[in-house]
Amino acid sequence: MSKEHQPALPAHPGRRAALGLLGASLAATLGACSAPESTPESAEATPASRSGGPLSAALSAGRSNVPGPAVPAALRRPGSKSIRHGFIPDFKLPPIQHGLAPVLTRIETKHPVVFLTIDDGVTRTPEMVGLMADYDFPASIFLTRNFVQADPGFFRQFAAQGSLVENHTVSHNVNMVSQMGYQQQLAEINGMQDYARQQFGRSPTLFRPPGGAYSTAMRQAVAAAGLKAIITWEAKSNAGKMDYQYGKALRPGDIVLMHFRPEFAADLAAFRAAQLAAGLEVVLLEDFLGVA
Ligand SMILES: [Zn+2]
Repeated sequence: MSKEHQPALPAHPGRRAALGLLGASLAATLGACSAPESTPESAEATPASRSGGPLSAALSAGRSNVPGPAVPAALRRPGSKSIRHGFIPDFKLPPIQHGLAPVLTRIETKHPVVFLTIDDGVTRTPEMVGLMADYDFPASIFLTRNFVQADPGFFRQFAAQGSLVENHTVSHNVNMVSQMGYQQQLAEINGMQDYARQQFGRSPTLFRPPGGAYSTAMRQAVAAAGLKAIITWEAKSNAGKMDYQYGKALRPGDIVLMHFRPEFAADLAAFRAAQLAAGLEVVLLEDFLGVA
């Protein structure tokens, strides 16, 4: 990534939390998700490991979808397809503490896994569906209601690979942490929760801030809306190439950001090449965190 897009964030989520309104000052510089996004910084790299174990029952058990009205059959996940080989998660999602949702930029794990997230939903092409099916990638799909409400059915197609729809607000205001108070932010988040329940038959458990900026008020609103965590990133596939906040390759536990954009095929190919080069398996983040 280019240097000018690197925000001067502190190095650890805990430190960020202490800074409270840091996100507000970053909002203006982070930019919209429809433009190349900045990559927040976080913890240092974890040494690669190949210690993945052959158990999937722990992850498959306990999964349940929230029944909703007129949920297409394709959305009722037939089973755990997303954990192909099975990994016993060695990372425990921090709980909501003091009313604040945790913020994750990557997952500290020794398993050879990587997590694919795809945002927004502005561009929709049959090619995207075909590519995801060909690669058979499960992904966390962070959708914005106002971007997708013309064609929510498009996104139901990704359930075939075990993908889940998550929360990326109603209106995608990249300045929401600075321009919106708590109640407005809560409305943005709750509005997408309601929409997702109606259209996709499941209450999202993960939240991605538009543009990546967050604040204490946002963390409170995310928790109040019933979500389990804010998910940011340190690696992204953008304009047909990978951008890394740290190093020059994917690491176990990386959360990769992509978008539904016209260059989707090139972005996905770049991610695919990086994933294979690093010897990582694409695993659904929600499965690994136990919040599917
Ligand atoms: Zn976005």
